[in-house]
Amino acid sequence: MNNEEFVEQLKAWRHYLHMHPESAFEEKQTSEFIAERLTEMGLEVHKNIGGTGVVASLKVGDGGKVIGLRADMDCINMMECGDLEYRSQNEGRMHACGHDGHVTTLLGAAQLLCERKNFNGTVRFIFQPAEEPGKGAKAMIEDGLFESFPMDEIYGLHNAPFLPAGVIHTRTGGIMASEDNFTIRIKGKGSHASSPHMGIDPLVTASEIILALQTIASRNANPLDQAVVSCTEIHTDGAHNAIPSNVEILGDTRSCTNEVQELIEARMKAISENICKMNGARCEFIYTHEFAPTVNWEECVSAAVKAAQNVVGPDKVNGNCIPWMASEDFGTFLREIPGCFVFLGSGKHANASDNIMLHNSIYDYNDDVLAVGAEFFAELIRIGLPQ
Ligand SMILES: [Zn+2]
Ligand SMILES: [Zn+2]
Repeated sequence: MNNEEFVEQLKAWRHYLHMHPESAFEEKQTSEFIAERLTEMGLEVHKNIGGTGVVASLKVGDGGKVIGLRADMDCINMMECGDLEYRSQNEGRMHACGHDGHVTTLLGAAQLLCERKNFNGTVRFIFQPAEEPGKGAKAMIEDGLFESFPMDEIYGLHNAPFLPAGVIHTRTGGIMASEDNFTIRIKGKGSHASSPHMGIDPLVTASEIILALQTIASRNANPLDQAVVSCTEIHTDGAHNAIPSNVEILGDTRSCTNEVQELIEARMKAISENICKMNGARCEFIYTHEFAPTVNWEECVSAAVKAAQNVVGPDKVNGNCIPWMASEDFGTFLREIPGCFVFLGSGKHANASDNIMLHNSIYDYNDDVLAVGAEFFAELIRIGLPQ
């Protein structure tokens, strides 16, 4: 297959996937499509790992090292509003995050590696479900991913419409943020609005807590680390003329390292409980981990940078980019084994602000970077598993 035919095939695969988006843990048709393509390439395919996950391996030579390449398969539950010929056929489902492109890219890499066999060792192609809710990586790991398919390293990429098409950016350490959610329930004692001395006002306590939580980022976290604490909702059972008995504060936090994530949780709990105590209110503090931070391993970053430079040229590679404070389920894999996550620039327009951002209802993956991503993965394997 020549390069032109390869690019046309990638486009056709991507458009098929774009037309048939499926949400988290429901990627049945998608995983079937992936399994068919991998089988056509002569690979042995393992399905239903962590739900709808798919894994295939390719061993060349006698090398003992194993590298995993990962793509995510799920779409977003939203209505596609664009007028593409290959627009979503599934009502209320849309590939607005470009995971159709990620699947295609990894299938392309599999095809290149099956043809070239220019490495010595084993590569595993990992297609994970449910990236958007941050549940698919954990599901695959709990289903024995690393026991059934041991790996020394793992790599992944995300398309980045906020970067010019064809650039590759990464960094050592935190590249994408953790996401945790919290609920703080404050129980005071309701009273007539005219008589605050007869009650314990949980709303004033909540206000003190909301302001004090802002000192975590400004006074507790190292200024060189990223820490975001956002209170996003407040609910009371009060009325216009009644001081409430109960107030609930909800919100979301982000950080780029495991240490800052732990610091935020511990400080939030102490601040909330102690301000409540000071005011005579009761406190219930609930904190849930939604996404791990995506923390790149230094040795794998240098491999990714080298592969990227070989594919797109050194001037299009940034090995020390700024982190992006969105969250990515790939971080869960990086808690288990070394690896690296990169951003593949996919902006269609030269002017950055003209590009449509991920999760927009008219988002459409840039087909021009499909082969770039596939070549990047293939090059990573060539240099990571040298002959
Ligand atoms: Zn997304
Ligand atoms: Zn995504």
